Amino acid sequence: MATLQGKHALVTGAGSGIGTAIARTLSTAGAAVSLVGRRARPLRDLAAGLGSATAIVADVTSEEQTQHMVAAAHEAHGPIDIVIANAGAAESAPFSKVDLAHWQRMIDVNLTGAFLTARAALPDLTRKAAGTAGRRIVFIASTAGLKGYRYVAPYCAAKHGLVGLARALAAELAPQGIAVNAVCPGFTDTPLLHASLDNIARTTGRSHTQAEADIKRLNPQGRFVRPEEVAETVLWLCTAGAQAITGQAISVSGGEV
Ligand code: NAP
Repeated sequence: MATLQGKHALVTGAGSGIGTAIARTLSTAGAAVSLVGRRARPLRDLAAGLGSATAIVADVTSEEQTQHMVAAAHEAHGPIDIVIANAGAAESAPFSKVDLAHWQRMIDVNLTGAFLTARAALPDLTRKAAGTAGRRIVFIASTAGLKGYRYVAPYCAAKHGLVGLARALAAELAPQGIAVNAVCPGFTDTPLLHASLDNIARTTGRSHTQAEADIKRLNPQGRFVRPEEVAETVLWLCTAGAQAITGQAISVSGGEV
């Protein structure tokens, strides 16, 4: 079994969905985990069921809060070795109805939030005593970072930006032994997806079940991706054997991309 014993992973958006699955998987592999989100309750509930885990309330769109977040994580478990920038949100609307506030919300949480998270943690990742292996940044992007979808232009633009950020940082940090990748899930069974399905049902007059069947057809495997499948990919990227994998955008989508 892959082991992350002695490693400290910071996971943003850990209170639900994909972030919770990643936190559980990295913790099971032996990492101490710092769990970040805006709501304390789900983070505390999760931390209570894991080994070495700390809940940290922070909004990743705030520069000040991301600095406090890293300081709190560092205080709890020492320097951070692994950053999983997963916090995100998806709002949909036809482009003609996208106002500047909608655009800004999507860029803020999905792109700027990941930038602020990575930058705040950088001094820990680049510390001299860290050795040459085992330091990672994983951005949870989306298949929307690799192809276009209707009615989510700001989300798609933000996730494409996130893939670009991963590629650029991978090039810049490779000499220091830090591997940086983007993981790109397809439609994954989480509260975010079910809120989108409710929205589709509301705006098209279809039932939630019909909307679900239509979205599942986009995945050649005819199903939703499970959060645990995304988490297993993240775990693999964090293992010693994946040290040479950097600057990649890895689709976890049943073959959709
Ligand atoms: P989710 O269940 O809604 O989880 C998103 C998490 O992010 C929540 O725990 C939320 O907690 C946190 N969050 C949101 N805004 C935040 C902020 N400003 N600061 C700190 N935390 C924040 O959604 P999910 O499906 O697991 O999504 C996780 C990531 O995967 C996102 O980046 C999403 O874009 C990506 N993704 C999802 C899918 C999918 O189909 N589900 C597909 C591709 C990519 P709080 O509300 O407590 O802050």
